Amino acid sequence: MSSPSTTSHLSSNQAERKQALGRKGILYIVSAPSGAGKTTLCKQIVTSISGVWHSISATTRKSRPGEEHGREYFFLEEQVFHDMVRRDEFLEYAHVYGHWYGTPQGPLMDKIEQGVDVLLEIDVQGALQIKKRFVDAVSIFILPPSMDILRARLRSRASDSQEEILRRLRKVKDEVWCAREYSYIVQNDDLTQSLR
Ligand code: 5GP
Repeated sequence: MSSPSTTSHLSSNQAERKQALGRKGILYIVSAPSGAGKTTLCKQIVTSISGVWHSISATTRKSRPGEEHGREYFFLEEQVFHDMVRRDEFLEYAHVYGHWYGTPQGPLMDKIEQGVDVLLEIDVQGALQIKKRFVDAVSIFILPPSMDILRARLRSRASDSQEEILRRLRKVKDEVWCAREYSYIVQNDDLTQSLR
């Protein structure tokens, strides 16, 4: 599997205009318990707000049906991931639900320097690491409408094993506890309203 490389949703013109304004990009961190609707919300943000770049993380988790290497994630072997850790190529990384996940540093720093706003979809451990380094980062925690809905959403994901679902459910309390560390909390009852 190849390692991450720079990709952009912005035209070079847009990036140049932002750079000309002399402003660095803003880092937006979005976290949520698994099944809260974070990924759907982040996809909508990127398609409906122009000029936001969604960072693509690396992970050692296997891809789910429909996921593509280099689009949802860079799906890496453990050895490749740990080589990247050793070379200090991640801005942050964490062990989440039994797999490794990390934010590739190079592409993200380039975007920030170019004045492009960056959206990071990462877990609470990663968010706390980033907030220490980027004190101006804006962090948003997404809450599910209820525990029942969260359970139902996770159980309806045929791609995840029973063990994987239980592992994710066991973490919910700890994750929600960390919501107090975030700049904003959004209860995702309604996608359109949450997006707004
Ligand atoms: P999933 O396997 O469901 O795609 O993601 C599992 C968890 O890992 C989610 O909470 C997701 O936000 C988090 N995650 C994804 N990428 C990263 C990353 O680069 N760093 C960290 N710390 N967490 C990540």
